[in-house]
Amino acid sequence: MSDIGRMKTAAEYIESLRTRDLELWVDGERIADPVDHPKVRPAINAVAATYAVAHGPHAALAVAHSELVDGPVNRFTHLFTSPDDLVKKVELQRVLGRLTGTCFQRCVGMDGLNALFIATWEAGEAKHARFVRWLEGVQRRDEMLDGAMTDPKGDRSKRPPEQPDAYVRVVDRRDGGVVIRGAKVHQTGAANAHQILLMPGQGLREGEEDFAIACAMPVGTEGVRMVLGRQPSDGRKGGPDAGNARFGGQECVVLFDDVFVPEERVFLDGDLAACETLVHSFAGFHRASYGGCKPGNFDVLIGAADLLTREHGVRRASHVRDKLVEMAHLAETVHGVGLAASTKSTVHASGVWEVDPVLANVCKHNVTRLPYEIGRLAEDLAGGAMATLPSLADRERPELAALLAPAYGSEARAKALRLVEYMTYGAGAVPFRIECMHGAGSPQAQRIVLERTLDWDAKVQRARVLAGLDPDEELPEIE
Ligand code: SF4
Ligand code: FE
Repeated sequence: MSDIGRMKTAAEYIESLRTRDLELWVDGERIADPVDHPKVRPAINAVAATYAVAHGPHAALAVAHSELVDGPVNRFTHLFTSPDDLVKKVELQRVLGRLTGTCFQRCVGMDGLNALFIATWEAGEAKHARFVRWLEGVQRRDEMLDGAMTDPKGDRSKRPPEQPDAYVRVVDRRDGGVVIRGAKVHQTGAANAHQILLMPGQGLREGEEDFAIACAMPVGTEGVRMVLGRQPSDGRKGGPDAGNARFGGQECVVLFDDVFVPEERVFLDGDLAACETLVHSFAGFHRASYGGCKPGNFDVLIGAADLLTREHGVRRASHVRDKLVEMAHLAETVHGVGLAASTKSTVHASGVWEVDPVLANVCKHNVTRLPYEIGRLAEDLAGGAMATLPSLADRERPELAALLAPAYGSEARAKALRLVEYMTYGAGAVPFRIECMHGAGSPQAQRIVLERTLDWDAKVQRARVLAGLDPDEELPEIE
């Protein structure tokens, strides 16, 4: 299996991050060593899990054959060349969501490179060939990409040219490349990436060509600055009250301070139609992705709640069993629709398979609601101690230990309470709640796609037939 060596191990991935010249700011300070920073490392560990799975028992899901490099690659750099690739993606995301209990950050890049493969194919042979060359390098080096889409957007009633600072755009063209300026927000895993894959975050109109830019650059490129987003209780990371003992998510603001990008890494530049394709295609891919990672996270919260009911001696109570079943039902509902969106895929002329847009949007729309109900049930089952438990460090104090012990209960109870707290309103609530609401588009974005995509006239027509208003042309032979 010599080819497997082409894919990084988790340890190789972590070591590879040390060679970057990353400019990262955390709480007002520039960080000299991001890899070992306590607020950064849990998120690096979660990305590392995407590397580890290619070498462990889940390799059948995590490894794919790439025709571009004619060899096995980590699925997170792979093109969706069949419906099976899309299904396996969601299944792998479920596994990783369960293994890490958080966002493992590598899917935006994967979904983005697939959307860009399609969009550059539509933009013409030269741009597509340039993108494919770059993608081959990503696959060979097994890189982690920051898929950078969302602009700050400012006043949403204004177009980009009316408030250019609120969008990434080209500000100069020179020396065989472009100079870009602006910021991207909500950048999942940006500080843990090797390269930034920058893409427009919305459809653009004539006259807005400077904003229609898709390109790539190493994270250490001169002029790129990252600023770490805060999370609830992020001061607990790495400590006894972390909740999730190993893993965490991450979002950064990425600043582009007149960054020069050579033309061999400029994939779209002013291609308005291709940008429109890119945005729609990416939205479909990423909305179906939530049908994988989120149910995996739900598995962890369901497990923590179940563990607590066992520690409390109420696991067999009928209302407890019913609540656990309800949580599992909601988790499988999300997963089922993510899988269905992948199974009902169709092939684009470029050869990449695209998810069913209706089902992908239904999947993500469920994700804007169901985690809140799952979290509510977990809080119900956990009891008030999830919000009032002292630090686990206090257990160690000899002056307190004996009388304090009953307040903690068993080791399992104390740590499961911290995990429920972490996921429902601690640092883990960023991927468990807010990202579920707004990641891959806020709820209204999915409703807009559903309204535009569904064939309303066909539904009315069928109602007319069955009401006896029109003849039945679909089933004429029955009577
Ligand atoms: Fe992947 Fe889910 Fe994180 Fe998006 S939210 S990057 S799909 S783990
Ligand atoms: Fe996300």
